[in-house]
Amino acid sequence: MVIVMNPNVTQEQVERVVHFVHQRGARTHVSYGEQRVIIGVIGHKSEIQKEQLKTLDGVENVFSILKPYKLVSRDFKPEDTVIPLNGVRIGNGEPVVIAGPCSVESEAQIIEAAWIVKEHGGHLLRGGAFKPRTSPYSFQGLGEQGLKYLRRAREETGLYIVTEVLDANDLPLVAEYADVLQIGARNMQNFNLLKAVGRLNKPVLLKRGMSATLTEFLMSAEYIMSEGNEQIILCERGIRTFVEYTRNTLDLAVVPAVRQISHLPIIVDPSHGTGRSDLIEPMALAAMAAGAQGLMVEMHPRPEEALSDADQSLSPVQFARLMRKVNQFVQWQKRDETFENSLV
Ligand code: PEP
Ligand code: MN
Repeated sequence: MVIVMNPNVTQEQVERVVHFVHQRGARTHVSYGEQRVIIGVIGHKSEIQKEQLKTLDGVENVFSILKPYKLVSRDFKPEDTVIPLNGVRIGNGEPVVIAGPCSVESEAQIIEAAWIVKEHGGHLLRGGAFKPRTSPYSFQGLGEQGLKYLRRAREETGLYIVTEVLDANDLPLVAEYADVLQIGARNMQNFNLLKAVGRLNKPVLLKRGMSATLTEFLMSAEYIMSEGNEQIILCERGIRTFVEYTRNTLDLAVVPAVRQISHLPIIVDPSHGTGRSDLIEPMALAAMAAGAQGLMVEMHPRPEEALSDADQSLSPVQFARLMRKVNQFVQWQKRDETFENSLV
């Protein structure tokens, strides 16, 4: 259930409504939008009558959200969620680029990669320290040492860090180093992990499971948000289909679909989405045209030496080209906005 408050509601009136709901055994999630305060009612609602709520001071309207996801839906919050991070705003027009190697391999490698990302205008540095690998015999990542190297790269370049947390037990450690906590495709339905990151006050990059429907994807985001953390960035990274020429099938239609039904930002990872470095640039551009609010790409200073995902890692030159195209896209988008505005 969603309670929409009057435009000129007072904090005291909000608190009174929250108290009313809590007394009847349900939880609340208060969202302070630009226009309105909206209170989401979570949990047992049988004791709460809509009509009673409507009589409380400051309440304008009360309605039920029929979709299975509530807090992440646009019905709950009409305006886009914007996540400010180190001078960039994810979800606010200009696409944000997260780039770096699949895995942190050494201090020198991640620092070199970070400088390349920075030099060409990337916004955040990615790199896995804990790696989810299909084979137990593949490189599993450097663990805590890898996190320390990421911190060094952050100190040197000022780039914020996106890194994966594989297990709820590692969360306190990873959260100490990460600016954005990545939940990988294989963990999209690890509900304990989702709840645990939901209790932190730190942005979460939630990757779509490789066989997840859009509803399942949003339900996983709902797990995080229902624990209190609203800073969620969705990431489309391709799903399993019968095609054999790419590693996964990048489902770009999910981008405008998410933007219609959810207020959360969505970015696209064309590296895992295709598994092929030659397809990253065209699919990155297609993603932005579809409305993606950012990109996550793998880039290695020397892809041929990469310990994981070498085939889908951009070289520094390919990354420089991609960034040029991204910037051209941004310029085009600005011109397009001027045109749109001239129509009204
Ligand atoms: C990654 O980003 O390094 C990764 C393992 O991605 P995914 O979870 O999408 O496979
Ligand atoms: Mn990878």
